[in-house]
Amino acid sequence: MTDSTIRTRSTASSTATTTENEMTPSTTDQAEQPLLTTDHNGKKSKTRLYTYDEVPDWQKDNHYILTGYVKETNSVRECIRSLFYLHNESVNVLSHLLPGSVFPLALALIVGPFFLVHSNTNNLIKYLPSWLFAIPIYPETTTSTDKLIFHIFFSGFITCLSCSAVFHLMKSHSLKVSVFGNQLDYVGIIALIVTSMIGIIFYGFRDNLTPMRVSLGLVCTLGSICLCITLIPQFKESKWRPFRASMFVIFGLSSVVPIGYGLWLYGVSETFARTGLMWVLLEGLGYCSGAFIYAARVPERYSPGTFDIFGHSHQIFHVLVVVSAYFHFRGLIEAYKYCHENLTW
Ligand SMILES: [Zn+2]
Repeated sequence: MTDSTIRTRSTASSTATTTENEMTPSTTDQAEQPLLTTDHNGKKSKTRLYTYDEVPDWQKDNHYILTGYVKETNSVRECIRSLFYLHNESVNVLSHLLPGSVFPLALALIVGPFFLVHSNTNNLIKYLPSWLFAIPIYPETTTSTDKLIFHIFFSGFITCLSCSAVFHLMKSHSLKVSVFGNQLDYVGIIALIVTSMIGIIFYGFRDNLTPMRVSLGLVCTLGSICLCITLIPQFKESKWRPFRASMFVIFGLSSVVPIGYGLWLYGVSETFARTGLMWVLLEGLGYCSGAFIYAARVPERYSPGTFDIFGHSHQIFHVLVVVSAYFHFRGLIEAYKYCHENLTW
């Protein structure tokens, strides 16, 4: 699909009868009609969604998504209001806001107190219902460190998804806010990678402190470097680009080092058991396929305009991030159980 074909379809979808440059006030009005949203009383609201051709250049990220844009608002209030009507970022916001903020808050504030008061649950994390996630307590060996390890992972998960939701909600504000939000998104990704690795390394090497400390040091150091690269403005200069790219690649691959060392030290089957590696591999598959779909812009590249609101690549990527994090959580539970049932330290 060429750009000219896309432009034709985009223009058609806005029902404008003239080209963008020739557009008169009357044709603009015509173009607005199908894009007005309807409020809960059935009245037409002033909210208007825009086509790809109508938004500023800095908002043009995916030319296969033709409609449903919230045009630069320059207003925090307007960005927050966009949470309550459907546009092409709605699913991106909700797919991370619900599991990353609303669900954990509901667990902590509603389900948690209910279970604490009404149930004598034997779950390590009290506010997780046992029928949903059973994390047994081993009276002899379970300590507050185990709880901390799980909470470190939860904090990374919540940080990642909340940063992402805020970014997608606020990215229509302005270029400046969008750039900052993008940095925030990276901070969340780094937090999720580091906090995910901590648990697996901790249980994988629970009875072998030297490789545990070296691996934790490696992951935390690389994570901190990537955090600095993301947040310090000087690193945005193009001369730092190769360094930036290589640090992120090294960081991404750093998880291979402790797992590879474990395979060498303990063999395949024990490393799988120690680290819940089957789940971790599923997690890796989820992240990689999500990243591939995102980069390839599938399925929207095969039918531009069809997946504007539902089903485009970024939404699939978001869902796969949540699913992969769930796989990681399952792997962490397996690693915790194997550690307490089979190892001594
Ligand atoms: Zn995203």
